[in-house]
Amino acid sequence: MAASFAFLKDVRPYKTAWRVQVKMLHSWRHYTQKTGETLEMVLSDELGKKIHASVRKDLVNLYVNRLHIDDWVFIENFGLNYATGQYRPTSHLYKMAFIPGTVVMHCDPKSDSSFLSLAKYQKIQSGELNPHMLVDVIGQIITIGELENLEANNKPTCKIDFEIRDENDERMACTLWGTLAEQVHRACENSDGSNVIVILRFMKIKAYKGVRSVTNSYDTSQVFVNSPFPEVDSFRESLPTDGLVLVPRERRPRMELVVVNNEDYQDVPRRTIEEIKNSLEVGRARLLCTIYGIDTDWAWYYISCRSCNKKVNHIHSGVHGVNNKGVKPRFWCDTCKSVVTNVVARFMLYANVMDTTGELKLLLFDSICTEIIGQSAPSVLDGSVDEIEDPDNLPDPLKNLIGKTFLFLVCIERANIWDGKDIYRVSKALLKHGGILMLENTQGTPDSMTPSSKRVYGSKDGPVDQASTSKKSCIEPIDLEKVNPDFKNEAELNKSSVESKTEGVIETKADLGKNVGETIGTTIDKADNAGPRAMVGVKVKIEKK
Ligand SMILES: [Zn+2]
Repeated sequence: MAASFAFLKDVRPYKTAWRVQVKMLHSWRHYTQKTGETLEMVLSDELGKKIHASVRKDLVNLYVNRLHIDDWVFIENFGLNYATGQYRPTSHLYKMAFIPGTVVMHCDPKSDSSFLSLAKYQKIQSGELNPHMLVDVIGQIITIGELENLEANNKPTCKIDFEIRDENDERMACTLWGTLAEQVHRACENSDGSNVIVILRFMKIKAYKGVRSVTNSYDTSQVFVNSPFPEVDSFRESLPTDGLVLVPRERRPRMELVVVNNEDYQDVPRRTIEEIKNSLEVGRARLLCTIYGIDTDWAWYYISCRSCNKKVNHIHSGVHGVNNKGVKPRFWCDTCKSVVTNVVARFMLYANVMDTTGELKLLLFDSICTEIIGQSAPSVLDGSVDEIEDPDNLPDPLKNLIGKTFLFLVCIERANIWDGKDIYRVSKALLKHGGILMLENTQGTPDSMTPSSKRVYGSKDGPVDQASTSKKSCIEPIDLEKVNPDFKNEAELNKSSVESKTEGVIETKADLGKNVGETIGTTIDKADNAGPRAMVGVKVKIEKK
């Protein structure tokens, strides 16, 4: 059997044909009304990189008996999604999803490590750590409150507050609920004056009035009291020898969040990226932004079933097995519950955009991509339904988006505000008179202006349609009012010349700077009559549908 496999740090969602070698560190069941009861796991590879994996309800029985705590396994063929939510058990950008066809094979143990990621209290308390990611901490319990019996969601539960310290006598508050509270309470009752060392695993960082502490996260968290971890032994030896004893303390108040809902989208406000990121209102906003990169971690298309339109999964013959060259590709449709071959590719694009206030990641679905690219996904793919082999090899129609500016209708969802989700969905590319607003920035700017990310396409070469100039050109954010104060005047000056040479209807409002998407008619190409006015080099182009 071939032994090749990928490390967890390298897996990306553009394909499912991965193979990893991992240790199962933790598993628990999770129930929501929408998903039913799923099997959740935390896996680690030999390098200590961890990932959250999930087996959905209808697959749990297939896999539950093959996945045991502390076992090492190969896992082959799986989906990856963004890790989202306020309770992410690992810092991995992605979460593994078992799919029909995922293979689990046992292998020899590679390491006895528990792969703890112990966080420094100071990093928790300073706010340096992302509060949406769960943390591990180790500490000696130095004060503890009463075990309180109370009600949460109409069910009786219990709660305990306590304080831990580290080897430097730094202190941190902790709160545990339910059986974990009882576990710690019991251990302290029975400690009889000896040190109580706890490892609190997969804990939630919470903040109240600027003070951060840790608490358990539903069923995900684990508590180990005086357990035989090597980490506990070395921690015990490093503790100050000042003979502290446990003392009781009082409970803290709690805080609740309230969502402000804005249903009025008749008159959608124009927002900057900074404003969108800081928004506390669910709703929609108009955003004028420039695409500076395509996130190639993700495939830019997915394959969907023609009968139900849902995403289907490639049926792989196995990463290490023979491939299916020459055979019509087969897919599994979860909705139709059958193998399908009648499929079609659709766009799903993660675009990195910017304006003068910041950067944002936008998710653009099929219809929007088709509009702004001017071509369907099957046409760009030339009929292929294969998985991507080289994610950095983007087709030209997609590369051409880089450097272009669009006015999008962007959704600000609850998850964006409350769950730390930093990807915003585009619901519409704003159209007027059959044209899409599209601006091209043709001025070269220093390299340092271009946000760079190793895996974001377009940061090296700039827009493709400028490659012929051989001049290195980069992208800078466009703020029509600030960067190009002449824009309004220029557009008005252009109005007469454009009207005379195009047949389209021009509807021009005076306040062009604020309402670009609604003021331009069919075809304006300022580069044609740029002359001395083209100082800033913003080319306005309206693509006719
Ligand atoms: Zn289907």
